[in-house]
Amino acid sequence: MKRPSRPLQIAIDGPVSAGKGTVARSLAERLGIVYVDTGAMYRSAALLAQSSGIPLEDSSSVVTLLSQARIEIRPPTLEEQDGRLTTVLLNGEDVSWKIRGEAVGLGASIISQHPEVRAILVARQREMVAGQSVVMEGRDITTRVLPDAPFRIFLTASPEVRARRRQQQLRERGIGLSYKKVLADLRRRDEQDSARKADPLRVAHGAWVLDTSDLTIQQVVERIVDKIEKSGLLSGGEEV
Ligand code: C5P
Repeated sequence: MKRPSRPLQIAIDGPVSAGKGTVARSLAERLGIVYVDTGAMYRSAALLAQSSGIPLEDSSSVVTLLSQARIEIRPPTLEEQDGRLTTVLLNGEDVSWKIRGEAVGLGASIISQHPEVRAILVARQREMVAGQSVVMEGRDITTRVLPDAPFRIFLTASPEVRARRRQQQLRERGIGLSYKKVLADLRRRDEQDSARKADPLRVAHGAWVLDTSDLTIQQVVERIVDKIEKSGLLSGGEEV
């Protein structure tokens, strides 16, 4: 398939376990472009606060800590290919797996409510993608970070389907949690993400809502690739 001839931005938002990460990474590979998981940045910020003993509610201390922190996101090297979608370095330390736990996820949901924390991370996200083709996923990419991206997608699925997927993901990592607990955590995070005042999770005006409840990851990727190909934005680019 062809690589985009000009910088192409694909923005994907959606609730937890809608399949954003796997879809975005797979799409980026197909198109030969960069993949950025912005949730990993909020998770890294939460890990930073938690491991420094700073209360997540204390926004000014979190901001001070975060302003001095380095968060790098890059594709896994050959040695790092252990099932991760992306490699995340926090002040040089590989935290790719450390940030995936439930406690850090809930922590990320809390600190992402601080507008000052969001402002720092949004600015870094925009810097990261300036002038290059990217698939970026998160909660406010279509509404705030890249509102002018030519492809803005809201990926979703029913809470029950998402809870099953999440439970399976956790099981693969050796974490056995009941379906009831996973569903309850997921509903809590949905509630926190949609109810927050700063950049709540919502469907951007004109975004393409794609319900993945009855689709495989591959089918979702195919649908998106099909739409991009039909848009003509890949014409003239090199073959990947
Ligand atoms: O996508 P992921 O589950 O890793 O994100 C963790 C948390 O980070 C989300 O529940 C959300 O609160 C926050 N987040 C955000 N804005 C983004 C990405 C993630 O507020 N762009």
